[in-house]
Amino acid sequence: MSKRVFLLLVTGVCLVISSSKIQLKAQPSPKIRRVLLISVDGLHALDLANFVRTHPHSTLAQLSASGITYTQASTSRPSNSFPGLLSMLTGGSPASTGVWYEGAYARSLSAPGSSCKTIGTEVIWSNALDKNKKLVDAGGGIDPAKLPLDPGKGCIPVYPHNFLKVNTIFEVARSNGMRTAWIDKHPSYEMVNGPSGKGVDDLYTPEIGSSTRDVKGQIAYDDLKVQAIINEINGLDHAGKPSTVPGLFGMTFQSVRFAQVTPAGGYTDASGMPSEPLLEAIDHADQSIGKMVSALKARNLLDSTLIIVTAKHAQAPIDRNKARIVDESIIPKLIDRMQNKLVAFSYADGNITSIWLTDQSQTEKVARMLVEPANASLAAIQNVLWGESLKLMTNNPSRDT
Ligand SMILES: [Zn+2]
Repeated sequence: MSKRVFLLLVTGVCLVISSSKIQLKAQPSPKIRRVLLISVDGLHALDLANFVRTHPHSTLAQLSASGITYTQASTSRPSNSFPGLLSMLTGGSPASTGVWYEGAYARSLSAPGSSCKTIGTEVIWSNALDKNKKLVDAGGGIDPAKLPLDPGKGCIPVYPHNFLKVNTIFEVARSNGMRTAWIDKHPSYEMVNGPSGKGVDDLYTPEIGSSTRDVKGQIAYDDLKVQAIINEINGLDHAGKPSTVPGLFGMTFQSVRFAQVTPAGGYTDASGMPSEPLLEAIDHADQSIGKMVSALKARNLLDSTLIIVTAKHAQAPIDRNKARIVDESIIPKLIDRMQNKLVAFSYADGNITSIWLTDQSQTEKVARMLVEPANASLAAIQNVLWGESLKLMTNNPSRDT
């Protein structure tokens, strides 16, 4: 049985740095020729503030001193790597991108390998789509046999970029003649190409599942991507072949979020004091960003590069005493007890469980059952969004696929 953390504090951080300092906020500097977007997944605004205070000579401290820090930045709702990243790359929330989580249910698609006679299937844009998730190249990327199918289009496979409902900033940049590059953790991140499938010139998606599940392994995995960014700054492609410096490029760091959730990691108190593994991960991300800054400087590109350091989502409660670990199978079991196979799909991540029902006319009954005190207490349910309260956050679930 898998476990999840309940009650997360979700706060992103956004630090925008450029050599043109404050003027940038009012009017973009004509000197800016390229944008480097860095997501340190999991990093809270408080982590940045604490690190800058305790490490005054760090890269993040130096960048903070010359850049603008947006302390009220917030991730998408719901948030995880996909909706959080897409909010930055498309400007859209899950209601407009159609991407609710890494995992969701699509009422218009059919299961992989099926004949499309049955409509409605899970869609999970994880490394489950890889040919081999234990290899850094995923055994050659996405296995088309594992993709959901579109019955409306002759039962053809739906790639992640086909699923996205809006265009991405990469498509905009590329159609304006800029070279684009992005680096992320699974081949399924080809979604950032946008619906055209062609937004990113140089997409590099080393599979995170190939790395060891400890802080050292995650740092080594991040180093692969940092080297690819350095190559791109040096006018090469991610692998080191001759190319040109992208106009829009970036990567995500994964070791900080890993160190936040690993049992020996996280925070030592409610004021956000990092544990040793977490501090190591933040420090390493800081030094890695320092290498990028040095490479830009060495090529005389720093003054014309806008660097954005942000976190596309948070990962962990700062105060672990307030976290409650809940068995994610409790909620679907409670629902299926009302009516056999009433749950079409249940996906728990972070502090939210998303539930799709096979019979949507039962929604009200299910919602009322879940808030009954005994059930709410058992499954640690704080709030159930359905009907009008859900429609305030997303599209009408009885019409949106
Ligand atoms: Zn992430």
